[in-house]
Amino acid sequence: MNVAEVIVDVSSKNIDRPFDYKIPDHLKGMIEVGMRVIVPFGPRKLQGFVTGLKESSELNGGSMKEVEKLLDLTPVLTEELMQLSSWLSDKTLSFKITALQAMLPAALKAKYEKELKVVDEEALTPDIKQLFRNQKSLLYSDITDESILSSLQKFVRKGSIDVTYKVAQKTNKKMIRMIEAGADKEELARHADALTKQASKQLTVLTYFIGGGAKISAAELCKKTDSSSATLKTLLKKGLLTESFEEVYRDPYQDRMFKKTEPLSLTEEQQAAFEPIKQAVADHVHHVFLLHGVTGSGKTEIYLQSIEKVLAKGQEAIVLVPEISLTPQMVNRFKGRFGSQVAVMHSGLSTGEKYDEWRKIQRKEVRLVVGARSAIFAPFENLGMIIIDEEHESSYKQEEMPRYHAKDVAIRRAEHHSCPVVLGSATPTLESFARAKKGVYELLPLKHRVNRQLMPDVSLVDMREELRNGNRSMFSRELMEQLEEKLAKKEQAVLFLNKRGYSSFVMCRDCGYVPQCPHCDISMTYHRYGQRLKCHYCGHEEPVPGTCPECGSEHIRFFGTGTQRVEEELTKVLPQARVIRMDVDTTSRKGAHEKLLSAFGEGKADILLGTQMIAKGLDFPNVTLVGVLSADTTLHIPDFRAAEKTFQLLTQVSGRAGRHEKPGTVVIQTYTPSHYSIQLTKTHDYETFFQQEMAHRRAQSYPPYYYVALVTVSHEEAAKAAVTAEKITNYLRAGCGPDTKILGPAASPIARIKDRYRYQCVIKYRQENELQIQLKKILEHYKRDIAQKHVMISIDMNPYMLM
Ligand code: ADP
Ligand code: ZN
Ligand code: ZN
Repeated sequence: MNVAEVIVDVSSKNIDRPFDYKIPDHLKGMIEVGMRVIVPFGPRKLQGFVTGLKESSELNGGSMKEVEKLLDLTPVLTEELMQLSSWLSDKTLSFKITALQAMLPAALKAKYEKELKVVDEEALTPDIKQLFRNQKSLLYSDITDESILSSLQKFVRKGSIDVTYKVAQKTNKKMIRMIEAGADKEELARHADALTKQASKQLTVLTYFIGGGAKISAAELCKKTDSSSATLKTLLKKGLLTESFEEVYRDPYQDRMFKKTEPLSLTEEQQAAFEPIKQAVADHVHHVFLLHGVTGSGKTEIYLQSIEKVLAKGQEAIVLVPEISLTPQMVNRFKGRFGSQVAVMHSGLSTGEKYDEWRKIQRKEVRLVVGARSAIFAPFENLGMIIIDEEHESSYKQEEMPRYHAKDVAIRRAEHHSCPVVLGSATPTLESFARAKKGVYELLPLKHRVNRQLMPDVSLVDMREELRNGNRSMFSRELMEQLEEKLAKKEQAVLFLNKRGYSSFVMCRDCGYVPQCPHCDISMTYHRYGQRLKCHYCGHEEPVPGTCPECGSEHIRFFGTGTQRVEEELTKVLPQARVIRMDVDTTSRKGAHEKLLSAFGEGKADILLGTQMIAKGLDFPNVTLVGVLSADTTLHIPDFRAAEKTFQLLTQVSGRAGRHEKPGTVVIQTYTPSHYSIQLTKTHDYETFFQQEMAHRRAQSYPPYYYVALVTVSHEEAAKAAVTAEKITNYLRAGCGPDTKILGPAASPIARIKDRYRYQCVIKYRQENELQIQLKKILEHYKRDIAQKHVMISIDMNPYMLM
């Protein structure tokens, strides 16, 4: 093959296609689809993906540029993933390059550096020569002295210095130095005898190898023999030792021991759910199962035993778990059963660690990956099963390009591999449950907890009533009584604060002023560290003001609707209680999350107080009380899924209580006790919730009756954003059939981000193709404006945040 088709690393509509490059002789036969290359593109050198190979190009040889460099010796993307990327970019209306990159770990993404090269040294002034320090080239990012930039620019204009773009390859692999004997034992012994008394360290090192010591890392050898690297150096010089470098994996879990667990004998109910999955694995067929099981019904054990069947067939499996429930407890359950066959991928890992886990998959060293959303792209080639735990979790949706949902990708991959998908949840999404009811998915119910433990007793407390009775505290009398009782019995409690978004803000107690980001129309988030305010959208930062800019009052301070204030109040009313608080503040440091949880598990505290991050996955036998301080917060978000999210969250949290022998109690405090999403938590009645919520969705043409898409238009000028949104809305109204309902345009709930005004249009549709065609035409029409960043148009075919 003489020509490679390459998709280059530029996110632009004009460039969103493969370009032809000539394959130079020395790379002929080496380049394969799925490899990364470096190619010239205009004045730049860019990274790109080879998407096709052919004998010749319509471009005549003269104008066709050559592939400059080959970055991979084996493809980083399999053929299946290459195909998946085209499907993904099509489905989500994102650039091909963005879809390709979404499938790779960050360490493999291109990074560019501006490089300055001396063309005419004679012309340069001494200070510039000094800057280059006799080198021919220099990285722009290495220049620390800003004052030199303007004279530098003059030389660049004159052509004495050239600017090029260089693709920086990140150092990916971690290598360690290994030492072994460089001569046979007799020779080592001869040298050992000849050593002087002062050289006792050399003697111990030699003795190690004379005694048959194996190849060992330099660091370990030094430790073992109490010697230094200088000692090793001397021996290396003499040729008595040799060194080599070996790749090692940064294994974030290497220090932990995993106790091997054996499969449990399944309950009758579990067995009934397991059989069809087992059958699908054996028959090698694609099928989607919805495992609908109450919390504690033993879903995870079913996953484990299904995976066992898959691995026994020599196949591979992917398990997706929401980021926040990817706790050590969860990881232990998989590592405990499958040991070193498991790779773990989540955002808490460093770029290097993520890359290493990915390489284990690529090299076929593991056959199971447990990970958050992006693990769905694990480069397995013989997939036997995909499991999505807590399938209702909104974190499976990526909120940036490509805006994909991991469930759609999972089903697509499973179709390709003819293997089953298992979706598990106590509170499935309405979409999934409706599909199961229609027989598109197969419903596998688990109605009881393992060993028939009862579901916890849930009581709803009307907080308006509390206030009428003179209780101004954030704890109702019932919750207080329960807390005291559990403390007395030496049992544990979990207190859940339903926080929506970022409620740690600063407020003036006198006039109610809350500092807003000057660019984004949202409240700034308070960061205790350094007493600063930060904007979560644009990164703007400023110190906390000493006095209120509105009224001059000094009573402007952190408003703890947050966990911190609850903790303060808790220590006042229950001074004897030991409290562990888990929120963004206490868990920001690496490993902190895990430490706090294990401390709680070991009984070092009576109460675990936290936000959403404690709602899932926790399984502590001694927890017999769960308190929800404010059930309503999620109910009032401007989103058609608000009721569904509330029901899911409350059910999840309630599930943390009484999972083992001791019975559990749940106290839910609310200002809207009559709402069905809150009422039905009391009876754990998913079915009834489903029926009621479906009626609402039908009446308002929301999913699962209609799909929803969101188009957001932004511009630096509010009027331009509004006008463009208006035009787009009209265009869609004219172009789409009567089955498509177009709402808006309207200002987005967050009306401005990064100084750009935002308008949105919500589309309810049934025909995906028809809408896609219209939306593609719109993107094509505005492509020049978009390229120049005058107007930005973002399209989400299945939004989970209507902001
Ligand atoms: P879920 O994932 O549905 O919330 P889990 O799989 O976490 O439920 O199971 C809850 C508890 O029951 C766990 O401690 C688990 O070890 C235990 N368990 C699950 N299946 C069985 C079984 N067949 N026999 C005994 N214990 C089981
Ligand atoms: Zn004020
Ligand atoms: Zn901002």
